[in-house]
Amino acid sequence: DAPQGPHPTAPAPLPEIRHIVAVGSGKGGVGKSTVAANLAVSLASQGLKVGLLDADIYGPSVPMLMGRQERLTLREKLIQPAEVHGLKAVSMGAMTDPDRAVVWRGPMASSALMQMLTQTQWGPLDVLVVDLPPGTGDIQLTMAQKVPLAGAVIVSTPQDLALIDAKKAVAMFGKVGVPVLGMIENMSTFHCPNCGHESHIFGHGGAEQAAKAMGLPFLGVIPLEMAIREASDAGTPVALRDDPAGNAFRRIAVQVMA
Ligand code: ADP
Repeated sequence: DAPQGPHPTAPAPLPEIRHIVAVGSGKGGVGKSTVAANLAVSLASQGLKVGLLDADIYGPSVPMLMGRQERLTLREKLIQPAEVHGLKAVSMGAMTDPDRAVVWRGPMASSALMQMLTQTQWGPLDVLVVDLPPGTGDIQLTMAQKVPLAGAVIVSTPQDLALIDAKKAVAMFGKVGVPVLGMIENMSTFHCPNCGHESHIFGHGGAEQAAKAMGLPFLGVIPLEMAIREASDAGTPVALRDDPAGNAFRRIAVQVMA
């Protein structure tokens, strides 16, 4: 069982960061990183000073999603974040050889994460969005216990399989005293661009029901859309656009900060 409450030796660092919001999921592949990147871009477009920390040490995707893969540099021993799409991003994927796997045990990965968090020259930030790895392992616990999180948002598809794991992620944050700000349903309705037919490939409405059942706010739905995947692959998150998918992310970003 996870220890209760904030970590007893929790550092009281990061005076320059007003809010830290973690984006988590129970399962991988549900679009957690896509949501994290698009929320960060949406918040930056509201005029906030935003950071994006990729806490997925073993499978970082922020460099690709944000289209900035160059190695980060150090200045006076501090990591200089990549400035991209109006925000500051740090990822293990921009500090190691992209083709080389990070083969570390949990404590080492957790300590790398804390270094990325505390030894980056973020400057003043209104909000730092943290893209967590999927599940409820060492990294998530480190974040929950050693970092003053304002809260966590949980991404799930409407599918039962994903929802079961999303509930476990919610339970983990509850156990360590991190407020869950709400749930987001990703890969919801698919509108066929050719015939306009609506289909629910991974189901529909499941995350909203699950949120309700757990007494959590439901933050909104993101459709399953080819443009979202293409924009992510191109390193230009869809939230940079003035279209329905971009609007969906911007609306959720407003909810998250409410
Ligand atoms: P996770 O972080 O949960 O592992 P990713 O954000 O990496 O998931 O998303 C997994 C894949 O699904 C990526 O190829 C991404 O572009 C795609 N994807 C995510 N959300 C959507 C969506 N709403 N519509 C279409 N593709 C999506």
